[in-house]
Amino acid sequence: MDQTKIDALRAQPVAPFDHLIDGRHVPASDGGRMDVISPIDGTVLTSVAAGTAADMDAAIASARAAFEDGRWAGQPPAARKKVLMKWADLIEANALELAVLGVRDNGTEIGMALKAEPGSAAGTIRYYAEALDKLYGEIATTPQDILGMIHREPVGVVGAIIPWNFPMMIGAWKLGPALAMGNSVVLKPSETASLSLLRMAALALEAGVPPGVLNVVTGAGSVVGQTLGLSMNVDVLAFTGSGATGRRLMEYAAASNMKRVYLELGGKSPNIVFADAPDLDEAAKVAAAGIFRNAGQVCVAGSRLLVEASIHDDFVAAVVKATEAMRVGDPLRTDTHIGAVNSEGQLNVNLGFVKTAQAEGGNVMTGGGRILAETGGYYMAPTVVTDVTRDATLAQREVFGPVLGVTAFETEADAVALANATVYGLAGAAWTANLGRAHRMVRAVRTGVMHINTYGGADGTVPLGGVGQSGNGSDKSLHAIDKYVNLKTAWIKL
Ligand code: NDP
Repeated sequence: MDQTKIDALRAQPVAPFDHLIDGRHVPASDGGRMDVISPIDGTVLTSVAAGTAADMDAAIASARAAFEDGRWAGQPPAARKKVLMKWADLIEANALELAVLGVRDNGTEIGMALKAEPGSAAGTIRYYAEALDKLYGEIATTPQDILGMIHREPVGVVGAIIPWNFPMMIGAWKLGPALAMGNSVVLKPSETASLSLLRMAALALEAGVPPGVLNVVTGAGSVVGQTLGLSMNVDVLAFTGSGATGRRLMEYAAASNMKRVYLELGGKSPNIVFADAPDLDEAAKVAAAGIFRNAGQVCVAGSRLLVEASIHDDFVAAVVKATEAMRVGDPLRTDTHIGAVNSEGQLNVNLGFVKTAQAEGGNVMTGGGRILAETGGYYMAPTVVTDVTRDATLAQREVFGPVLGVTAFETEADAVALANATVYGLAGAAWTANLGRAHRMVRAVRTGVMHINTYGGADGTVPLGGVGQSGNGSDKSLHAIDKYVNLKTAWIKL
């Protein structure tokens, strides 16, 4: 990464952004606008259209018309593939500009943003583009006088709603498979992180995605998100965000056309360290990175550290050391490890969780407060809290911030019981040199992803999805395609 280029990009003013509807950049129907505050210094970066219900309805109508006339779904698979490949190339060609814009909007440290945002988004889109002409239908094992065929058909209009933490990466997890299969999409990004996604969508048009096939409407979830959820003209909702909003989307579906709803929700993921871990120093460093990167705003963050009692004190000391070695600050500096919290509101939520943890008997070993307030930005010291009991708030509720809760355990059975003692089931890890124990942990911990002797880093070839109140359905891998297709049976008497 070249600091000079980053500095030049951050010095550029950011022009106001409008919706992308029917292939055109259009303002809100009532002219409403929302300021975009940069979490780096708390200043107004630019503005986006404050969408109305009418804006969302226009986007949905455009997506529906595009789907019905076959301008995308009706193209030969090879043609769609070519366009999507070009889109991935354009994202890569503009990667630094996209990443810097995204960081100015959401505060993720640039090293992570560059890799996880344009880098991952381009990879995801390319993965589904490559797959789309290799997915055949099926011929069923029928009696001789019957031909039974199973076709995969696009569902029609997909509504996608995404959060602030990784807009391009998570956006691409929905857009890649949905567009590859021929659907039209209306996407609503987070109020606090729309810019890079809007820019990435504009590149889709440049690559040749026809007008109306990909629409982006900005604004409040309670207005445009709700309109999308309640629409009679949307066939599938693909969501990443909090459980509270996920619940609402299920209600919207029930209250409207019973559209399918796929939810990627939060987590309280256990990172379990046994005394026989192959390298405890490495485990401590990865445990710190696994919760604190992107200021803890990572759905799979290892936010519960479960440590075997015999090594607890030494291991906590090593985690604290690794934590204090991480540099917090300006996310556009290449040597920063932890950037800004996305908004002042989220920063206050995080600080509230620390206070509650202390009131419930937790001990703050490092961090615990706001730092760098003089910059105007929203920075929090990465925080390690020990003596977190099984039912404590910090063990049960997702913070979505840089706060790690530590709990000691005695036996493998205790570790599994603790690990499974939440409503969530998104990710987890176990550190052990015992092969049998490693496999037992993969089976016993109820999560969608289980890491062994590492944390995070799973690529696009494997699914990411939760169990329990972490959601349903998976992003990534070929399995994600199932969300965006209907199976149709043709039963033919010969
Ligand atoms: P929210 O649920 O608050 O918001 C997510 C999106 O939903 C935003 O675009 C928001 O709009 C929108 N929204 C809010 N209210 C409504 C509504 N009534 N109807 C329709 N849409 C609405 O989540 P956060 O933005 O706070 O994101 C953090 C959460 O996302 C955490 O719980 C995290 O774990 C989860 N997450 C899960 C991942 C996974 O793969 N499982 C990955 C990343 C994050 P707006 O905010 O603009 O008003």
